[in-house]
Amino acid sequence: MKPSDPQKKTRPNKRSSIASPHGYRGRFAPSPSGLLHFGSLVAALASFLDAKATIDAQGNSGKWLVRIEDIDPPREQLGASSEILHALDAFGLHWDEEVLYQSQQSQSYRELLADLQQQHLSYHCQCTRAAVKTLGGIYQGHCRDLNQPKENNAIRLINQQGIYQFTDIFQGQVLCNQSLAEEDFIIHRKDDLFAYQLAVVHDDIFQNITHVIRGCDLLEPTARQLSLFNTIGSQAPQYGHVPLAITEHGYKLSKQNKATAINKHHPQPMLLLALTFLGQKPPKSLIQGSVDEIITWGIRHWSRHKVPTTQQIAIT
Ligand code: GLU
Ligand code: ZN
Repeated sequence: MKPSDPQKKTRPNKRSSIASPHGYRGRFAPSPSGLLHFGSLVAALASFLDAKATIDAQGNSGKWLVRIEDIDPPREQLGASSEILHALDAFGLHWDEEVLYQSQQSQSYRELLADLQQQHLSYHCQCTRAAVKTLGGIYQGHCRDLNQPKENNAIRLINQQGIYQFTDIFQGQVLCNQSLAEEDFIIHRKDDLFAYQLAVVHDDIFQNITHVIRGCDLLEPTARQLSLFNTIGSQAPQYGHVPLAITEHGYKLSKQNKATAINKHHPQPMLLLALTFLGQKPPKSLIQGSVDEIITWGIRHWSRHKVPTTQQIAIT
């Protein structure tokens, strides 16, 4: 799938301060639908470095958490979670707190769904994807007042906020597709699975995440996430989206197009490539260094302003 391409204007030139009493808390949140590839390494490294290079008034660097987003069993690849964790370790990306598995959070997601329903902020919908597609691809709120039964139906959020623009740490002012951002989107699926938007916002709140650094493939979902944060009445984190690594034909790296899994037995070259991809210009001699030396260099030299502001970069 080709990633969407929201417009952008200028980039902010000031670092934003950390307003949270918990200090900087970042996270990397892979889905175990496959192994880490170069694109996911870039997102992991960027979120790690941004956390570790941010020092608060007490002299503490940011915390970096890992969350396994395993809420879609049919798409899960056996053993991927532990492979991902081993790979992060091998690349020197050590997390600060216990790994959170979304599959353990069902009870809490259910409570959030019940709260939203009780406040009349959601409704059941029986429209099929095909039906929505025929009507132009944007859901028009057909079932909002129809009081559909809950059996075999999805749950949609009443999207009163319709937030479609935000300031991104790397991309500056981002304008998302407004009608898509205003849609009543699905928060619980017909097949009884929790939707990504619900789980991700729930857990970013649950883990007191202050900064979400990830790839530009998630620019559009950010608008929805901001609406959900607002609906819940919770302060949203700051978002920073780094360029997405794409194939020379313009497609996102994925298992399907044979993006090579990263080699955890020989991490140095890939780490340097990822730093270079992020515009950080590591010296060539660093190739002789250990993983920890490369990571230490990365933290010391991390500069948000050097990260390219393009949304995609082809790797050949
Ligand atoms: N689990 C999502 C993915 O692997 C990323 C979630 C996020 O960073 O918000 O694409
Ligand atoms: Zn409907």
